[in-house]
Amino acid sequence: MVSFFYDPFKMGLVIVSLLLSLGLFIVLKKYKQLSFKKKLGIMYAHMFTLIFPFVFFALFQGCQAMFNNCSQLGKILTMLGITALISLVFGVFLGPLIYIKRFEKKSIKTDNAAKHWIHNFVKKHAIKLKIENPQIQILNEAKPQAFSIKYVKSQIFITLGLIDLLNRKEIEAVLLHELGHIKNRSSLYKFSVNLFKLVSPLASFSTFHKELSKEEHLADAFAIHIQKTNKNIISAKRKMNAFFKFSRSVS
Ligand SMILES: [Zn+2]
Repeated sequence: MVSFFYDPFKMGLVIVSLLLSLGLFIVLKKYKQLSFKKKLGIMYAHMFTLIFPFVFFALFQGCQAMFNNCSQLGKILTMLGITALISLVFGVFLGPLIYIKRFEKKSIKTDNAAKHWIHNFVKKHAIKLKIENPQIQILNEAKPQAFSIKYVKSQIFITLGLIDLLNRKEIEAVLLHELGHIKNRSSLYKFSVNLFKLVSPLASFSTFHKELSKEEHLADAFAIHIQKTNKNIISAKRKMNAFFKFSRSVS
């Protein structure tokens, strides 16, 4: 334990990685006009450099416990390589997948009637938009919620509570809103922001709010454009807000 913290090279690496992580975070916070792609890249780099020191420390402790001469250059380089690989896998691939799996687990597998028309509706509009047909996941939850994720494949999640609460036109408005997100690629951005909040302790200080509300506005505008009325998206939101107000007042 002590040898790790007194080694200037190893401690240097840890500090540089953490400083880099902090620096990337500041860039993300300061340069709000950066493109969507650049922001995502910075966000993942931030997560990578944040995970890196912890993996490196754990590997070093493991090596030391087994061999006791882990400060040789060759061994350190090997450990650095393995650390980079593990951090990459966790930061960029495994993390998001675990996050999505959490939702997929709650999804209902049966092919009921509600799922049927929802599938057809989404498929029809995906073809019109020339985007990949998103998978529909119906979550067994009372809370009326809908969101979309685009990671490897695109998926729209809606809860049974939402299907129960809204009429057909309103559900269609919500589905179009989510399709709007997928089309604008904001679902990947929203998803990454949520993941970022989960992984990074710094995320609570950041302000994504403004951009996200702009994305919401665009997704609404898309639903209104297709339905040629704002009636359904407005009444859907009103019903959902009323539900959350009510559940807050009873809990
Ligand atoms: Zn939205």
